[in-house]
Formats: sequence, structure tokens, C-alpha cells
Amino acid sequence: MRCDDQRVRITVLAGGIGGARFLIGLRELGHDVTVIGNTGDDVEMWGLRICPDLDTVMYTLGGGISAERGWGREDETFRVRDELSAYRAAVDDDAPSWFGLGDLDLATHVLRTQWLQQGTGLTEVTQRLCRRWQPGVTLLPMTDARVETHVTLTDGSVVHFQEWWVRLHAAVPATRIELVGAADATPAPGVLDAIGGCDVLLLPPSNPVVSVGTILSVPGIADAVRRTAAPVVGVSPIIGGAPVRGMADACLAAIGVETSAEAVARHYGTRTGGGLLDGWLVDETDKAAADLLVEEGLAARAMPLLMTDIAATTEIAQAALDLAADVRA
Ligand code: GDP
Ligand code: CA
Repeated sequence: MRCDDQRVRITVLAGGIGGARFLIGLRELGHDVTVIGNTGDDVEMWGLRICPDLDTVMYTLGGGISAERGWGREDETFRVRDELSAYRAAVDDDAPSWFGLGDLDLATHVLRTQWLQQGTGLTEVTQRLCRRWQPGVTLLPMTDARVETHVTLTDGSVVHFQEWWVRLHAAVPATRIELVGAADATPAPGVLDAIGGCDVLLLPPSNPVVSVGTILSVPGIADAVRRTAAPVVGVSPIIGGAPVRGMADACLAAIGVETSAEAVARHYGTRTGGGLLDGWLVDETDKAAADLLVEEGLAARAMPLLMTDIAATTEIAQAALDLAADVRA
């Protein structure tokens, strides 16, 4: 049985841009897709709760993303940000200005914050926001709890992930990356069922440390992935020893993992060896790594992994499902 013979229930653990791009291709295949989104990047600015990765998935699949930036809204303006800066300059306030919040984007954060303050959980809030954007997938936050990824720098100071990523461009080496609040967090409603009850579980080419790794560090999620009856197939975000975009190499260095498709596969580990993966797609330039991993018992395959357009991305998604079907057989 091939996966494309019928509608398949697919669950995807996704970060922002890499995850969202992959989902655009996967959606073309017409299956039932549930996305478990990373909320470790969440941050509070101007008293507003911002969920960058959930919004990137929602805006990308809903057709509202800025194509040029890859985050935030198309046709965006920044008048509120500039107005806030004018007030701050007048009172010598040095509140952070490195995090760009556009005027259209602000509406999302205002509503989300209001609903959260009224006691609505983030899962329900996300569903309400998605009612407008109709992303064509079910989007769940990994947890309703307030958690935050913090990064320890070489001088011992600890900063919010966004400060390291956006303000410092991850140029300052990190020695530790931790999801603060994880110990008290539980998976959001529907998350464990989506992992345990799907036909295929996919790890898209999202950042293995601060996107997929963060989702897996919510207690119960990694165990559910290890135990699911569904085949688990990942797509490498690393091609030819480098991230395609972004600074995933800095994240991998922080946890002592080499920046290569092979090392990321070993980091996730094989399910037969107590890890997470049954299958792993690498780019054709990393074919040697695939051959080596196959010898060691992981179903690895090499193919072009650049998500240059929807057609190329759909082929990657189909290859991941084909690999899942082979693994199941
Ligand atoms: P973020 O939360 O916005 O950083 O996005 P994700 O964590 O979902 O994805 C970031 C990862 O996507 C980076 O590590 C990139 O290497 C990877 N990525 C971006 N474009 C491509 C692509 O075309 N092909 C592959 N294989 N990976 C990509
Ligand atoms: Ca992110």
C-alpha cells in the first residue's frame, strides 16, 4: 500500500519558516494534516503575547505571509512601532526596539493577548485566529503553558532566544539552550492524540534544536513519538554541511552536534535504538551520508531537498510519505 492511495492522517512537528514552507508542499497532497507548532520562541513585547512560529505557519498557509521577509505580513507598515519609538526617545526609555512588529501583525497579537487574558487557552485562541486564515491544516501549539527558550552565552549571561537570534544574529556562541518552564508544562489538548493516532509522523526541515528539539522537550511528547505506531520520517534542514537559511549551525554547536545531515540524524536517533526516526531524507549532495545511515539500519534516502517552489516542495513531501510507506511495509 502506498500512502498516496488514500487520505492519510499526518502529524508534523513544525517550527517557523522551514516548517511552513514544507507544509505548503505537503498540503498539495490533500491529506489530513495536524501541525504541532513550536511556542518556545514566544515573547512578550508591549504587553502583547507574540507566537512567531505559530503565526508564520498560519500566515504562510493562509496566504498572508511576507514573501520577501518570510515572516510577518505582506504589505506591512510599521507606523505603530515608529510611534512607540518616538514616545520612548522623548523619555530616554531604552526598551527593546530590535523586534519588528508591523501594524497588521499587531492586530493578531492584540486579539490573542485579550483572549488569553480572558482565560482562553492558547489552543483555542490559535483555532480562532485560524478561522480567519483557513490554513487547511489543524494547527496546535505544543503546549498551552507559558514556556520560553533561553540561551546561555559564553560569558555566562542568559538571554531570551529572540534576543540571541534577532538582536545578536546568533553570532555570539551559546553554551546552553533550554526551554524554561518545560518541567511544569504538559502537551496541549490534542497533541498526544495527534502523535499517537496518526498514520505518519513527519519531522519537516525545521531547526532540530530550537524548533523540533523544543517541541520534543515538552514532557510526554518525545515519549509519544518513540511509542507511536506510525512511521516517523524526518527531512534534513542541513544540506552539504550548512543550514539552507538561518543559523541552525549555531544552535547545533551549542548542543555539541556537528552541522551535517548525518549528525542531525544521529542526534534524533533511530527508533530501533531508542530514538525517534524510522526514516530520514537527505539532499542528493549528502548521498554518502544516506548510504552510511542505511548500513546502520536507518531507512535513509537522498533527493533534492531545496524547497525552491511548491512543485519541488510537494515532491519532497511525497518522498517523505513514500519512505514512511516503505518503512511500514
Ligand atoms: P524558523 O522557526 O523560522 O527558524 O523555521 P524552522 O525551524 O521551521 O526552519 C528553519 C530551518 O529550515 C533552517 O535550519 C533551514 O536550514 C531550513 N530550511 C530552510 N529552507 C530550506 C530548504 O529549502 N530545504 C531544506 N531542506 N531546509 C530548509
Ligand atoms: Ca522559530
